[in-house]
Amino acid sequence: MAPRPMAAGAGRETARPAEPSPRPSPAASSLDPVRHGPRKTAMVALTFDADMTSYMEGQLDRGEVDSYANPRLIAELRRLKVPATFFMTGLWIERYPRVAAGLAADPLFEVADHSYDHKAFTTPCYGLGRTDDMRRSLRRTEALLDRLDPRHPRFFRFPGGCFDRAALKAVAAEGLTPVQWDVISGDAFATSADAIVRQTLAGVRGGSVVALHLGGGKPSGLTDDALPAIVRGLGERKLRPVTLSTLLGRR
Ligand SMILES: [Zn+2]
Repeated sequence: MAPRPMAAGAGRETARPAEPSPRPSPAASSLDPVRHGPRKTAMVALTFDADMTSYMEGQLDRGEVDSYANPRLIAELRRLKVPATFFMTGLWIERYPRVAAGLAADPLFEVADHSYDHKAFTTPCYGLGRTDDMRRSLRRTEALLDRLDPRHPRFFRFPGGCFDRAALKAVAAEGLTPVQWDVISGDAFATSADAIVRQTLAGVRGGSVVALHLGGGKPSGLTDDALPAIVRGLGERKLRPVTLSTLLGRR
């Protein structure tokens, strides 16, 4: 499950300030999620959500899906030397510990929190079940991420992009910064790689945070197919992919 173009809050992007203010602690100030970085920059952040739900685990166990790890996409990012930020669910880390460790150890990449089991932090949320303990979901995932990289950025992306005020408070209480996006690739629901490329390049500009998926979505492989053309298109627009931490000046 994944954010759609009009996922919760996505239409409110124009009301956001262009520059993130320097913040000593995300809990100490506005609870609002980050949607993009500074606009007067050529930097953009490609973010990939590594979803895993109990339903997806069942698909893997029944052999209906061979993998949600997507080695092809990861290899393509490395080949193109494209920095990326992976928002990982705890279940995904537990399913693919070596892949997760490899991503965390690679200086090209960084890893962050996408909840433990991809249950929604508010409902309705595209049919996702609601988590019964938001802070436990965050803590379990942070513990897994700490083992991968104790210095990982304290970013969190809501499952399905769905949140309300209580959810924002829970995230702030755990010392995490919620991160949405201003460009949605549409890869979770797209039926062609071209559509992903078009939608991404139509919306991207300096400071953008682009939402993509690592291995979720069917048919799989579309994000991989779209990636080279997206990277080429960014280059033509003189935009440079960086990690989210770099875009937001957190490292
Ligand atoms: Zn997700």
